[in-house]
Amino acid sequence: MPNPAIATKGQNSAIAPTAQSVLHSVFGLRAFRGAQEEIVRHVTAGGDCLVLMPTGGGKSLCYQLPSLLREGCGVVVSPLIALMRDQVAGLLEAGVKAAVLNSTLSWDEASEIEQRLLAGGLDLLYIAPERLLTPRCLAVLSRARLALFAIDEAHCVSQWGHDFRPEYIGLSLLAERFPKVPRIALTATADNLTRREIVDRLVLNGAPSFVASFDRPNIQYEIIDKKNAQTQLKAFITERHAGDAGIVYCLSRAKVEDTAAALTKAGIAALPYHAGLDSDLRARNQDRFLNEDGIVIVATVAFGMGIDKPDVRFVAHLDLPKNIEAYYQETGRAGRDGKPADAWMTYGLADIVQQRRMIDESQGAEAFKRVSLDKLNALVGLAETTHCRRTRLLGYFGEKLEASKCGNCDNCLSPPKVRDGSVIAQKLLSSVYRTGERFGAAHLIDILTGRETDRVKQFGHHQLSVFGIGANLNDSQWRAALRQVVALGHLRPDSEAFGAFKLTESSRDVLKGITAVMLREEPADAAGQRGASKSKRGVKFAAISREAPSQSTGLLGALRAWRSEMARKHGVPAYVVLNDATLEGIATTSPRTHAQLRAIAGIGDKKLERYGDALIALVASKAHCASRATQGRAAASGDFGGRR
Ligand code: ADP
Ligand code: ZN
Repeated sequence: MPNPAIATKGQNSAIAPTAQSVLHSVFGLRAFRGAQEEIVRHVTAGGDCLVLMPTGGGKSLCYQLPSLLREGCGVVVSPLIALMRDQVAGLLEAGVKAAVLNSTLSWDEASEIEQRLLAGGLDLLYIAPERLLTPRCLAVLSRARLALFAIDEAHCVSQWGHDFRPEYIGLSLLAERFPKVPRIALTATADNLTRREIVDRLVLNGAPSFVASFDRPNIQYEIIDKKNAQTQLKAFITERHAGDAGIVYCLSRAKVEDTAAALTKAGIAALPYHAGLDSDLRARNQDRFLNEDGIVIVATVAFGMGIDKPDVRFVAHLDLPKNIEAYYQETGRAGRDGKPADAWMTYGLADIVQQRRMIDESQGAEAFKRVSLDKLNALVGLAETTHCRRTRLLGYFGEKLEASKCGNCDNCLSPPKVRDGSVIAQKLLSSVYRTGERFGAAHLIDILTGRETDRVKQFGHHQLSVFGIGANLNDSQWRAALRQVVALGHLRPDSEAFGAFKLTESSRDVLKGITAVMLREEPADAAGQRGASKSKRGVKFAAISREAPSQSTGLLGALRAWRSEMARKHGVPAYVVLNDATLEGIATTSPRTHAQLRAIAGIGDKKLERYGDALIALVASKAHCASRATQGRAAASGDFGGRR
């Protein structure tokens, strides 16, 4: 049955559907979120715009709804096939006439979709950018009736960004070729440079920007001192995220493999993902992550763009990303459903050295390297800050948090102690200076702590005045101090001699005592380490995850099992059938009628029609079991009482 709201599309305005009615009938949602309503109104009226919203903010609705309300088909440009496939699956589930054009289709399949487009039989068409720019596709589009162009992941036009896609540059021709069709560009990456580039490339000068708050209040940020990253990761997962779906990012393919194997050995359901894997296996691992519950995917940054999975409970970084944009986008894949999630990273001195080396060795122009270095420094600043991380993150994107503390990051939850570390820094700088700026961390620490290693003796460094002047601190405290001194810019990794440190312009003032150096206090005993496994929050999270098994045996568990079966039957990810929030809504309200079920967010007309009876039957059967169990218990306790 055609959806009545959509069937009236483009007809007499007296009976034209309103944004509100389609929101309810098709998407099963009661209210717009944030700027959605304004954006929908603006685009439906034919306006261009730029939409900046964090991951999970609800960008899709901003172009899907106007596509249903305007005459013609909405064309969505998106860089990733997986994303398009999932979105189209979700739309079809909701009864929207959607299709996708990408390189995986045969000529005949593509022709059929083009015919449907020309005949006015499509509401939404997802197209990969390289496909859209072909003469064949442009010719078809110019003959079709188009509602709008939505350019998703619009930051891909930015050459400075981390997701640059050369095909996106070509999209500037949309403005020229289709001047009457509104363009809406959407992204979750919003620094000023990227924003300006999007406006330039997509010719959006003068069009309004809708900027939502970038805050993701449900994500808890935590950055800990790297000791043994794998051990730290295993503790983090087993203590706080047992059975949860999560993403672990590593820099290299080898480390991905190694980490996935280590997690598997520890009994965690982990799968590797990187560009070097056989493509079938890679696709299979991605599908299992999307479709099954509780899989941890260990991946390089090749993984994740366009991954829509709403119930990712944590994103862990074992290596430092390139910059804050990348960090924010990667961590943003956690908790799209709005429920508590963790962004956790272990980070150490070697990470700074490694990222700097990658910049030094990159082929880019000097200006590019300078921008990259500034961006890296901003991320290191975030990792080192002793203040609220969220405030710092949002500040980077030009947003000010109302309160200066968020209460949901490691620094807010257990504020680090800071002390004047000027003398420590001076000792470090002196040892670098006295050894000719040619040595790395291990050797410098040997000298400071007064260890007569062969190497120390070989260079005569046991005779230096700095030898043994730092015996009051242990190795790990010295490493942490060195990391912070580097992060503060008073030492820098040598771009030629790998591993060595050199003095910088600011070193002099530190040595002379003009610049004070504040350092985070590192406890001497290993048990009290920052990021040690049993943090206060660790305990809290463990308590939450212990409750999970009991839920899985009740109505929610039955709903999940039913959903898995539906997903398998329809060949779509589980969350495309119904998302977690909707399942929980059903489990807590136990609807007995279609009307009660319809009131739950995520149940639109089509889903009600398709699944209503099955869901109500399931709720009823569970209620029946539960009441029998209660009666049984009552009877049993009665018996017991009688005998007593
Ligand atoms: P984005 O593309 O910005 O990352 P999505 O469009 O995928 O985000 O939306 C994220 C989640 O929020 C989805 O599960 C979606 O159903 C939900 N959502 C979007 N808009 C609303 C709304 N107005 N009310 C309730 N849920 C919404
Ligand atoms: Zn905070």
